Amino acid sequence: MLKILRIAVLVWFGLFGLASQLSAAVPEHKQLAHAPEDSWTMPSAVVLIDAGHGGIDGGATAGPTLEKDINLAIAQKLYLLLNSQGIPAVLNRTGDYALSDDNRWHISRSRHKRDLSQRRQLTDEIETTMLVSLHVNWTKDRSKHGPLVLHQSSGESALLAFCIQDTLNRQQETAFYPREGKPFYLLRKVDQPAVIVEMGFISHDGDRMMLTNPREQLRIAKAIASGIRQYKWITR
Ligand SMILES: [Zn+2]
Repeated sequence: MLKILRIAVLVWFGLFGLASQLSAAVPEHKQLAHAPEDSWTMPSAVVLIDAGHGGIDGGATAGPTLEKDINLAIAQKLYLLLNSQGIPAVLNRTGDYALSDDNRWHISRSRHKRDLSQRRQLTDEIETTMLVSLHVNWTKDRSKHGPLVLHQSSGESALLAFCIQDTLNRQQETAFYPREGKPFYLLRKVDQPAVIVEMGFISHDGDRMMLTNPREQLRIAKAIASGIRQYKWITR
């Protein structure tokens, strides 16, 4: 129960912090408002946005550019967009910290494992219908670029991945297919449809410029939101 309370409080404060950035475009009833007296019930939303990495875990890097910062910047934009479009969303981190910092009740050997297990656990503690985990790709081959969405073996996850891959392909003028992401802990352990969205390559000069430019970040967030809307429309 303490855990649920802490998550509720996290969501509550996360919403308040971000709410200050929201314009009046979002009607109050559309926001995930949980009054403190409601914190006994399970918080609910449609989309859990996972901003990959955080804290001492920077993710992929290219010079001074860190994946965790890109993931968070786009995750915040996606959060605001979805909520303003009437799709309740929650964001699992609103600042630069590792989820395991807030996860001391887990006994696990590696911090990374704790991070992943906390990410999975969040899906148990917040009622959401899908998990969208935001990441940035890296490879030695500096010519590789473009988005890649990884999905679970389930049809729903594959459909969600196809929808997001399609809208990101339009945004980045690419024609890649999503792929099943078998070795990924998050995809194996989460019951609801989950996808890992590799939004581009930090190792590619053009992609990196796009991924770190706030206007382009908004375009990426809009593309992902539009893919989520398509998926919701098809599965409604
Ligand atoms: Zn990553």
